[in-house]
Amino acid sequence: MTAAWQEQASLKALNTFGIDVAARYLVRASSDDGIRQALAAAAQRDLPVLVLGGGSNLLLTRDVDALVLQIASRGRRVLGDVDQRVVVEAEAGEPWHPFVLWSIAQGLCGLENLSLIPGTVGAAPMQNIGAYGVEIKDVFAGLSALDRQTGEVREFSLEECAFAYRDSVFKASPGRWLILRVRFALSRTLDPHLDYGPVRQRLLERGIQQPTAQAISDAICSIRREKLPDPAVLGNAGSFFKNPVVSAECAERLRVAYPGLVAYPQGPAEVKLAAGWLIEQAGWKGYREGDAGVHQQQALVLVNHGHATGAQLHALARKIQADIRARFGVELEMEPNLY
Ligand code: FAD
Ligand code: NAP
Repeated sequence: MTAAWQEQASLKALNTFGIDVAARYLVRASSDDGIRQALAAAAQRDLPVLVLGGGSNLLLTRDVDALVLQIASRGRRVLGDVDQRVVVEAEAGEPWHPFVLWSIAQGLCGLENLSLIPGTVGAAPMQNIGAYGVEIKDVFAGLSALDRQTGEVREFSLEECAFAYRDSVFKASPGRWLILRVRFALSRTLDPHLDYGPVRQRLLERGIQQPTAQAISDAICSIRREKLPDPAVLGNAGSFFKNPVVSAECAERLRVAYPGLVAYPQGPAEVKLAAGWLIEQAGWKGYREGDAGVHQQQALVLVNHGHATGAQLHALARKIQADIRARFGVELEMEPNLY
């Protein structure tokens, strides 16, 4: 059965910034057939299509004069053992965090550091989601994506996804690939990644020296709940800027001027700077312009205090970029997808 299209549908509840814009049409698709039907009908009417997952990495700056296709396919399964790993698969519309918890409940390890990231499984490869020292590329086994140019389904291996820091081949060609389902190679034994931020410390505070995947997931959830605003309470899209990677010389020059610089070497020639630290040093933490603001606890997160528009948040982001450029000579790149 073809799903009904809503006309002039509000997207306020469908993006975590809570931006109140309308889609010309909105439809939910919960199967490959439903997705194909919606794409075909949009093509017939010459309508552009915006693919939507959980709306947690989007900044909507205007009404969407397109068909918004919300991916709502569900299903997750264990496919079997391959080379000491267990391959699991989930449909694109599966919510990410419940999928992580499900994998842990199967006795499988590898996704625990990626707990409590909002959004869907299908969007996760778009920017190679990462947190606390793990990215999906570390446990990625493959994905199936619909080529919107040809209508064919193509399988992607790890190499073909060209995953990089918050980047992938899918992000590089926006709108071409619609990810249908994703596979991960997990392990029955835990290889804990505890050296990032306060993860080990939180486990020790809980009296845990040899954690399970569940204990790591719980610790990370508790850290995230303390530090990051809950989009249900305060609209946001997580980190608004990527951490800039600069040359070792540039980082050294900045360290001389700012001895407290937070920086992490990425091999011999490059250094990753904590964008949140730069923004906080520049005095933006807690700043507010109407309802568009910078979070009180984490300067990397822009927030909607209520009725900010996407354009106001975008304007604030550009002011921050210009200030960081002027003060530090560093370019900040926005992370959320702008519409
Ligand atoms: P959406 O916002 O709906 O879409 C994002 C982009 O992907 C859009 O361009 C959309 O068109 C496209 N897209 C969506 N689904 C598909 C599909 N099936 N096929 C093809 N294209 C698709 N990110 C991290 O990496 N690490 C974090 O730790 C993290 N923490 C966050 C914390 C908070 C509080 C918030 C609000 C966000 C956080 N994010 C984080 C960002 C975000 O949650 C992730 O990028 C997430 O993967 C986005 O999923 P989504 O389903 O909401 O995507
Ligand atoms: P944090 O722990 O305060 O650390 C600040 C920054 O320093 C992070 O962005 C992280 O970079 C980097 N960092 C910390 N420890 C590091 C180490 N040992 N080696 C290399 N880099 C290190 O960060 P936070 O804001 O609370 O976030 C915690 C984790 O969740 C981070 O990995 C962050 O990326 C992720 N997160 C992402 C989003 C998003 O929307 N993308 C939102 C919230 C949290 P990286 O960001 O490169 O990891």
